[in-house]
Amino acid sequence: MQYRKLCGEKVSILGFGTMRFPILDKNQKFIDAEKAEEMLDYAIENGVNYLDTAQPYHGGESENFVGRYLKKRNLRDKIFLATKLPAWLIKEEADFDKYFNEQLKKLQTNYIDFYLLHALNARSWKTINNLGVFNWCEKKKAEGKIKHIGFSFHDSYKVFKEIVDAYDKWEFCQIQYNYMDLTFQAGEKGFKYAVKNNIDVIVMEPLRGGQLAKEPPKEIEELWQNFPLKRSYADGALRWLWNKKDVPILLSGMTLMQHVKENIESAKKAEVGILSEKEIKLFKEVRKAYIKRLPFMCTTCKYCEPCPQGVAISSILGFYMMYRMYDDLERSKSFYNGFIKEQNQADKCTECGECMLKCPQQIEIIKWLKESHKVLKKDQK
Ligand code: SF4
Ligand code: SF4
Repeated sequence: MQYRKLCGEKVSILGFGTMRFPILDKNQKFIDAEKAEEMLDYAIENGVNYLDTAQPYHGGESENFVGRYLKKRNLRDKIFLATKLPAWLIKEEADFDKYFNEQLKKLQTNYIDFYLLHALNARSWKTINNLGVFNWCEKKKAEGKIKHIGFSFHDSYKVFKEIVDAYDKWEFCQIQYNYMDLTFQAGEKGFKYAVKNNIDVIVMEPLRGGQLAKEPPKEIEELWQNFPLKRSYADGALRWLWNKKDVPILLSGMTLMQHVKENIESAKKAEVGILSEKEIKLFKEVRKAYIKRLPFMCTTCKYCEPCPQGVAISSILGFYMMYRMYDDLERSKSFYNGFIKEQNQADKCTECGECMLKCPQQIEIIKWLKESHKVLKKDQK
């Protein structure tokens, strides 16, 4: 395993994301403890020293499981433990303590190494900021209950910048970043902005939830095959990140022992600057080929929002683009029907046209919303 510095701590370049453990009875709440423990044992024996959990993972059971595991193996002080404040659940100041104390109890610890304000977006950010979240964080740090404070993020670059600028004591942030998501959410611009502001960046979704690890569409497969150096898709995507000196750690949510072993093998060989110019060019070509599959390119800037009818324009178009790029209809459908409430789905569009006047990409939003709904709406019974 290789190690880099994150907020001054020596962390393994591969962190274990605990939101995709193997499960029993197809129920997210029932973690297959035997298999999950084996995977964690293997990862830790091979040098992984960072575990990332959060309040909602596995229906609230990830924190319980991680807490039990660390206690059973007597590992708490040998592992960097990260968990997150569920920012979207905060309604009043007292909620900060309420959720944090619950988390300490579930994790069977009295401190958290890396504490993140979870999945910040414009709305949750505004609420917790108004409730004085920074004062609360600093109090917890002074008490020794939080060692490092940061945030994870799911919104536009504009909001990302606003959050970075609002506080000069951020130590780290966590963003979705990989060779495909350069303009998605915080994206490459956000990555560079954080680095410029001395905020360490933890990378999440390095494989886009597994999309970059599976066999790609034919024209993209050919690009990989024509390149003389052969790697697995996952290995290539991870190396693209570790190649950068400003990526201290990336998190992988692993479901099978095979994923753990493969990722550890990749991490053993990863070094800054390991990719040749030619290989970097190949990633650019692959990205271009994926983008060529798209009928439009929404950058999730959100200038078109809010829609007066509440249509979740950028998220819907994002899920549709995902379907077109990766040929992954089932996943896109599950996102559309799982994450977009009925009242915010594309069929609520009244075609007022307001959004289209604001879109810098001049996307025919109305047309593509209709198409998205037609393709992604779960089959009616
Ligand atoms: S055209 Fe549809 S999506 Fe766009 S702002 Fe009007 S109602 Fe909302
Ligand atoms: S549809 Fe246009 S304005 Fe709306 S998020 Fe996408 S690129 Fe931005």
